[in-house]
Amino acid sequence: MSNPDLVIVGSGLFGLTIADRAAREHGARVTIIESRDHIGGNAYSEVDDRTGIEVHKYGAHLFHTSNERVWKYVNDFTSFTDYVHKVYTTHQGVVYPMPINLGTINQFFSAAYSPSEARELIAEQAGEFAGKDPENLNDKGISLIGRPLYEAFIKHYTGKQWQTDPKDLPASIISRLPVRYTYDNRYFNDTYEGLPTKGYTAWLENMADHPNIEVKLSTDYFDESQELNKKNLRGNVPVVYTGPVDRYFDYELGDLKWRTIDLETEHLDVGDFQGTSVMNYADESVPFTRIIEPRHFHPERDYATDRTLIQREFSRFAERDDEPYYPINSSADRETLLQYREKAAAEPSTLFGGRLGTYQYLDMHMAIGAALSMADNKLPDLLRS
Ligand code: FAD
Ligand code: UDP
Repeated sequence: MSNPDLVIVGSGLFGLTIADRAAREHGARVTIIESRDHIGGNAYSEVDDRTGIEVHKYGAHLFHTSNERVWKYVNDFTSFTDYVHKVYTTHQGVVYPMPINLGTINQFFSAAYSPSEARELIAEQAGEFAGKDPENLNDKGISLIGRPLYEAFIKHYTGKQWQTDPKDLPASIISRLPVRYTYDNRYFNDTYEGLPTKGYTAWLENMADHPNIEVKLSTDYFDESQELNKKNLRGNVPVVYTGPVDRYFDYELGDLKWRTIDLETEHLDVGDFQGTSVMNYADESVPFTRIIEPRHFHPERDYATDRTLIQREFSRFAERDDEPYYPINSSADRETLLQYREKAAAEPSTLFGGRLGTYQYLDMHMAIGAALSMADNKLPDLLRS
């Protein structure tokens, strides 16, 4: 396609949703450029050669949403299994259900509290923070579950995951985790949940499968040796940019800070290593945060029963060359972001979107929802520009 109506930088779920709407709804000719050698951004998965098991290359991805529009939309491209995510955590050699629920509380205190007795106990253990709404993760965590449970299950896990004192982290991180006074140990509270029946990549490829959509892999927007680069396109062709916002402006106002993860893969000659898909490790003495065993994401599949693979997940600060995964979002980052946002708003015929382009943690359904809103509210004008 020599003269596309729209160039999209990045083939993650945000970019693919914009591409779909531009091509299927507006009849626009779209070129997506993607610096990686595959489509799909961080939701991409591939089949492991040695075991035949589908592996989420950039870390475990669980689809869940309560947004009716998003659920209907994603079902245009894939069906979903009835997988329901459940997580367990190991603390001092004992396995507990996570998120914290009545089962966790009773197991931890070797008790048989009723829901109201457990609430009373936790309120007591939340001490000075009981009923308050603190702004940092440490105090918020204690207010939600009391100090003993916080110190067992949250404090060190969070320390390993964020390498930051929980007092310096925003309360919003821990607010993502439900606390329940029932035995319900579903990880997510959402109405809809499941995994793409034929895998993530089949879903992502279906989104791009349209005669008006061309995908150019291994093509970086900042590489001036390829045609569709920032210098050539700026102001000439409408662009939706889903790469890092600080990179777009050559880091001129400073770097926005991210966390990344390293996954250490091990193949094992056993059919089942841990009996579940995700086991967290709450203690400081274990260097990784969790072990993922991807075979358990698809119990309905006919995987070989004599081998498996596991991924140990380690967390650390990202350097410029690492994959930026989770925004750190310190107050300094937020100030820098505001300045980048002003510059982005003034950029001729370029819209910034997605996790990297807006420096926001977005679950898949949020990235899709945000892209659908952009397609409703801004895409028609952009395509006319
Ligand atoms: P991305 O998927 O990051 O896509 C951006 C794309 O842009 C990438 O492919 C990148 O290579 C490309 N790009 C960047 N710069 C350039 C450039 N200069 N030129 C060309 N291409 C470029 N969500 C859930 O709902 N459930 C989960 O369980 C879940 N788990 C997650 C676990 C991890 C470890 C991570 C990191 C994320 C997880 N997410 C999860 C979030 C999910 O991955 C995001 O919602 C989704 O990736 C957002 O899509 P995006 O298009 O904004 O970004
Ligand atoms: N968390 C924790 N212990 C756990 C699970 C989660 O302390 O066993 C905390 C941790 O701070 C984490 C936050 O809860 O960052 C949100 O959990 P979630 O599973 O959403 O984390 P993610 O891995 O998606 O960041």
